[in-house]
Amino acid sequence: MSNHPPAADLAARLERAELAARATEVDALLITPGPDLRYLVGYDAIPLERLTCLVVPSHGDPRIVVPALEKAAALASPIGELGIDVLTWGETDDPYALVASLLPEHSRVALDNHMWAEKVLRLRSAMPSSEQLLAGTVLRELRIRKSPDEVEALRRAGAAIDRVHAQVPQWLRAGRTEREVGKDIADAIIAEGHVTVDFVIVGSGPNGASPHHELSDRVIEAGDPVVVDIGGTMPDGYCSDETRMYSVGEPPAEFAEYYAVLLAAQEAACAYVRPGVSCESVDAAARQVIADAGYGDHFIHRTGHGIGLETHEEPYIVSGNTELLEPGMAFSIEPGIYLPGRHGARIEDIVVCGETAGERVNLRPRELVVL
Ligand code: ZN
Ligand code: ZN
Repeated sequence: MSNHPPAADLAARLERAELAARATEVDALLITPGPDLRYLVGYDAIPLERLTCLVVPSHGDPRIVVPALEKAAALASPIGELGIDVLTWGETDDPYALVASLLPEHSRVALDNHMWAEKVLRLRSAMPSSEQLLAGTVLRELRIRKSPDEVEALRRAGAAIDRVHAQVPQWLRAGRTEREVGKDIADAIIAEGHVTVDFVIVGSGPNGASPHHELSDRVIEAGDPVVVDIGGTMPDGYCSDETRMYSVGEPPAEFAEYYAVLLAAQEAACAYVRPGVSCESVDAAARQVIADAGYGDHFIHRTGHGIGLETHEEPYIVSGNTELLEPGMAFSIEPGIYLPGRHGARIEDIVVCGETAGERVNLRPRELVVL
C-alpha cells in the first residue's frame, strides 16, 4: 500500500488550496515541512533548520524551494510525479531571498501555522513590505472534512490501536510499574502497524486523576483502576488515539459508580453526532450526563479534538465552538471523571461524522476490564 494519496488527488488538493488562497485574497501560501506539506503534496519531509518551503501562489504553478542535499528526497516524493518545479539552494545561498524572489513586492503571504518562528522572522526580513497571515485559516477548510480515503485511513489507524488495547490485559498486573507496562504497549503500537509511538499514558490509581499523566515508576497495586490512553502515527500519516479503562482486581465501589456514569456520557455524545449539530452541543451531550450525576466539577477538559494527519487538529469539541458538524469531520469523544488523589477514568473513541450519524473507528468494548 502506498504511503501517500494518488497524485491526481494531491493535484486536486493543490488546486483547491490555490482557489481558497484566491478567495481570501492571499497571494501565496508558504508551507514548510509538517502536516500541511504532507496533505498538499505528500512530501513527508523532516522539519530541519535548513529551509524547505512550498510556494502555492494564488495565480500560477506551485514551486518548492529545497536545500540541494534534499532534492533527491523531494523528487522521490509525489512532488516529482506532480511536476512541481524544485528550486535548490546551496549551503552558502540565502533561501529566504530565493522565496522572496518568487513573489511580488507588497504580497499578502499566508504562512504554515506550524512554521518555526525563526523561519517566520527571516521571511519577514526578506520580504519587509509583505503582510504575513496564517495559512491555517485557508487550509482548515480543506483538511477539516476528510475524504472517503482519509476516513478509510482513520479506520485502519483505529483498528491498529484496537489490536494494541486487545493485548493490554496480558501486561497489566500488580507489581509492575507503569513504565514497564508502557514499554510493552509502545512496542505493540509499532508491531501493530504504526511508524511512531506518539504517546503512552498508563495512569494507575491516583495518577489516573491527572488527565495527561504519561508514565511513572509507580508500582501498580491490586485494586487500582488504570487509564490507558495510547496513540501513534500510521505509515500514511494518519493518527490513532484510544482510551480504555482497566482495573487490576476489583476497583473501589465509588469508582464503579462513576464509571457507569462516564460510560453513559460517552455513549450519549457518540449517539448525538450527526450533520448539522454544533461541536459545543456534542460536548454538552456528554457533560450533561456527568453533571446530572453530580460529577460535573470532575470533568475538567473539553470532550474532544479533531484528528487526522495530526493527533490534535480542528474541529475541537468544546463549549463555545458553534461550528456545525459536516460529513467527513473526525474527532475524539473522550469525557473523563477525575477524583484528585484517588483515581480517575476516561473513555475515548475516534468518531467520524457520516451522512446521518457518527461512526466510531475504535471498536473495543468500553466496559471496565477487570483483570
Ligand atoms: Zn487519547
Ligand atoms: Zn484524544
